[in-house]
Amino acid sequence: MKILVSACLLGENCKYNAQSNKNDAVLKLAEKHKLIPICPECMAGLPIPRVPSEIKGNRVYSKDGQDLTDKFRDGAEKSLYVAEKSECRVAILKERSPSCGFGEIYDGSFSGRTKSGNGITAQLLYNNGIKIFGESRIDGIDFDNI
Ligand code: SF4
Repeated sequence: MKILVSACLLGENCKYNAQSNKNDAVLKLAEKHKLIPICPECMAGLPIPRVPSEIKGNRVYSKDGQDLTDKFRDGAEKSLYVAEKSECRVAILKERSPSCGFGEIYDGSFSGRTKSGNGITAQLLYNNGIKIFGESRIDGIDFDNI
């Protein structure tokens, strides 16, 4: 099974603060599956490190007030392209991110509070039929039979 994965979960230092969200349970899936990394924000050309961003309304703003919605949409389109080219039907994406979060995202106040919603990339992948799991929800999932 090919699984699209947020690159930061695989240990890539691609987060806004140039750190990763390395997750051993996700990395272990590489023993049985082909993991295809994406980092939508990097693929959109945003730098590492970068000012963090959050979704407010239907737009994405950096903490210093720049409207980065078009960049985030570009990263989402590129991620979908990778998913389609590699025939991934499933993705494991970093929870709460304005790109990768699914079901719950930071609320736009840069306070650590969250709200219901999806990141820009997660939403586009979902709209195109890709099944999405956050990293804390993969325990016990039989990825070969999804
Ligand atoms: Fe991780 Fe996604 Fe943020 Fe990239 S855009 S650092 S893959 S959460």
